Amino acid sequence: MNSEELFTRSEKIIPGGVHSPVRAFKSVGGTPVFFKEAKGPYLYSVENVEYTDFCQSFGPLILGHRDPDVVKAVSGIMNKAWTFGACEPYSLELAEWIIDSVPHVDKVRFVNSGTEAVMSALRVARAATGRNKIIKFDGCYHGHVDSLLVKAGSGLAGLAASDSAGVSDSVAADTIVLSLGDKKGVEEAFNQFGNDIAGIIVEPLPANFGLLEPDVEFLKFLREITKQNDSVLIFDEVISGFRVALGGMAELTEIDPDLVTYGKIMGGGFPVGCYAGKNKYMDMVAPSGPVYQAGTLSGNPVGMVAGLATLVKVQKDQIIKRLNERTANFAEGLNGHLRSFEIPMKVAQYSSLFWFHSCDNDKPKNIKEIPKDHGEKYKKFYALCLEEQLYFAPSGYEVGFMSWAHDEKIMVDSMIKFKRVCERYKGLDL
Ligand code: PLP
Repeated sequence: MNSEELFTRSEKIIPGGVHSPVRAFKSVGGTPVFFKEAKGPYLYSVENVEYTDFCQSFGPLILGHRDPDVVKAVSGIMNKAWTFGACEPYSLELAEWIIDSVPHVDKVRFVNSGTEAVMSALRVARAATGRNKIIKFDGCYHGHVDSLLVKAGSGLAGLAASDSAGVSDSVAADTIVLSLGDKKGVEEAFNQFGNDIAGIIVEPLPANFGLLEPDVEFLKFLREITKQNDSVLIFDEVISGFRVALGGMAELTEIDPDLVTYGKIMGGGFPVGCYAGKNKYMDMVAPSGPVYQAGTLSGNPVGMVAGLATLVKVQKDQIIKRLNERTANFAEGLNGHLRSFEIPMKVAQYSSLFWFHSCDNDKPKNIKEIPKDHGEKYKKFYALCLEEQLYFAPSGYEVGFMSWAHDEKIMVDSMIKFKRVCERYKGLDL
């Protein structure tokens, strides 16, 4: 069956034909490509077309698909066990590695996704403070946790309204949605609800509504105001953790969050997440403390060894720095072609992440800077990229991910293909 036939089959049995909405290609149009295999920087479709993959499963695969060291670790554990539902040493090795590498973390609890990590961290923040409300920022995504599937409401100081059917107004009412960089809004929220604000959650590198430039001064302000008000500061580093630095944005900004959430890279491409932080908070988690949180497959050995093999290699080979340099060169090359063909798009880059955008500012900081027609522009561009066998995330608001498997040769090949995309785009009758 080809992709079209598989999608028709899929739509009959799976909502919208997909297990996660963006995969349906709704915002770029056309039929989603079905893949049957992947290796290094490449994806192979059911039609046997080879694509260079700049999505890399939305971030976990910092070493690329099926890195040999990860394959070795996973094959090794598969001959021993793949779940115990009981105590084992593998999760300890990963937890110790994280604690040794990340200064602000005393203890770690493994879960099965970034969403679960965030949901649990919020629960700990509420329990530790005895308060209910959480501040989040417009344009930051934290998984599909009910209380964070919200948008700014019309009420006082950004009190939120539900942004998904099935999220009750009473749950949404415990979230305050503010704009990134809006210090005044945060101060007002604390003036108004301070004794009921359990914490602030933020993506210190906003990378889910495009790639926004991190605002270090604002992050420092959040650290201060949460301290002053005995609220908890949660850094959601599901994307940035172990990618921008081993200690994520917390390390780069030298900010010490109370709790942090990780996912993606730390599971090496298997379903793993964790929340972590200071003993004061982590000791509140059951069975040490009163915050209940559990999981049948939590700390499963396959994810644990895959994550550890990934992180050890990233550290040993000093991959982050070298990958950042490659990504900066790549982004410069893309921008060069976009400029010379006068295409009204640019590439923003931070660390090994990049994003095609159409903002006036080269480094946008707030989602308000993204033009309304950005999605439409990306759509036309996307179809050409796909035809040239370059696979980017199928939405103009998702970022691109580079992996260590994207070596010099892949970069050169991709640039030739990208030049063709630009030539063809220029020739379109728009
Ligand atoms: N937090 C951030 C910053 C994310 O980028 C994501 C997913 O992309 C999540 C949380 C949710 O993680 P998951 O998709 O593993 O549930």
